[in-house]
Amino acid sequence: MITPLMPNYARTELAFERGEGCWLVTADGRRVLDFGAGIAVNSLGHSHPHLVEALVQQAQKVWHVSNLHNVPEAERLAKRLIEATFADSVLFCNSGAEANEGAIKMARKYHAVRGEENRYRIITFEGAFHGRTLATIAAGGQKKYLEGFGPKVEGFDQVPFGDRKALEAMIGPDTAALMIEPIQGEGGLREVPTEELRYLRELCDANGLLLIFDEVQTGVGRTGKLFAHEWAGVTPDIMAIAKGIGGGFPMGAVLAVEKCAAVFTPGTHGTTFGGNPLAAAVGNAVLDVILAPGFLEEVQRKALLFKQKLAGLVDQHPKVFESVRGAGLLTGLKCVVPNGDVTAEARREGLLVVPAGDNVIRLIPPLIVSDAEIDLAVGMLDKAAASLEAQMVKGAAE
Ligand SMILES: *Cc1c(COP(=O)(O)O)cnc(C)c1O
Repeated sequence: MITPLMPNYARTELAFERGEGCWLVTADGRRVLDFGAGIAVNSLGHSHPHLVEALVQQAQKVWHVSNLHNVPEAERLAKRLIEATFADSVLFCNSGAEANEGAIKMARKYHAVRGEENRYRIITFEGAFHGRTLATIAAGGQKKYLEGFGPKVEGFDQVPFGDRKALEAMIGPDTAALMIEPIQGEGGLREVPTEELRYLRELCDANGLLLIFDEVQTGVGRTGKLFAHEWAGVTPDIMAIAKGIGGGFPMGAVLAVEKCAAVFTPGTHGTTFGGNPLAAAVGNAVLDVILAPGFLEEVQRKALLFKQKLAGLVDQHPKVFESVRGAGLLTGLKCVVPNGDVTAEARREGLLVVPAGDNVIRLIPPLIVSDAEIDLAVGMLDKAAASLEAQMVKGAAE
């Protein structure tokens, strides 16, 4: 018989009743350390007092009014994002895929209003993940997500990650934009080198293409800067964000420079819930914390500490772990044994981690994680690796 919740997820046995900071607690009182953060969403952990306060206060005023009217909380959040980034204007939506859809539509419209309607193709990169809507699975180009869902949405060309020749050969008169994650999240924490991001910017400028960054996973402090592209000193024309900006409240946004944002004139694009007062109040509260002086420096400091300890783990367990991946607190381990086994064993030790492509486990704690919690997590991973090694010895003896 079918389960009440559709069977499209392979869920663990765990169900949580509440959360406190980096910890999740089941109904029977089992505490686990959350280094998955709801897949890089709970940027400030669980039940952060400032977020709870913002949500409750707004809930007592007004939740939703639609985009037929002004939403002052959303306007304030947009202004703060503009102040802190390359962007001149912001569109709010409800998820990462929806933000990428907005970015894709904006890039196409940009050329269309300039009389180049044929110029709608977008180049993406192998191993990319941009979401699960029809256009974003076409953008991601992964067979396993496309299969069975009818014809692939037209207009996406994929090139191998880091292959400049293939990329330049792919650019044609119909190319509208390049779209890339500064660090591939689902694809296995593969970083785009700084010089490669700069080259992409120059390539776009030389060919009249728009540069779209998908910072749905890398954004909002995850790498120790507000956005990952800041490390490279390169800015996009359009950027999709989501995950961390709501701290657990569903929210996404498209940030863009004026020439791009200006094509979204009244009636061209929309969403009922996007930037409603509840979401915007929480988004503002998230920024209150992340933009507070010293917060991102502290993320950088903890990330370095974590990375050093993870390197030690790789040295100690070469049969389980191959290398450390990622940047900031978007970090992880490339595994030798199947990453699903490491994930399950870590969970048994009381640590939640998230598998990614390329046999990687992601270690993406809330940005408020403490040094002591990092130590605990490393200890749990050490034990998990030791049990996997013991199982290997046992397996070999049998
Ligand atoms: C998670 C993710 C998405 C999709 O976001 P949803 O909110 O699940 O639609 C898109 N791009 C990247 C880089 C992501 O990590």
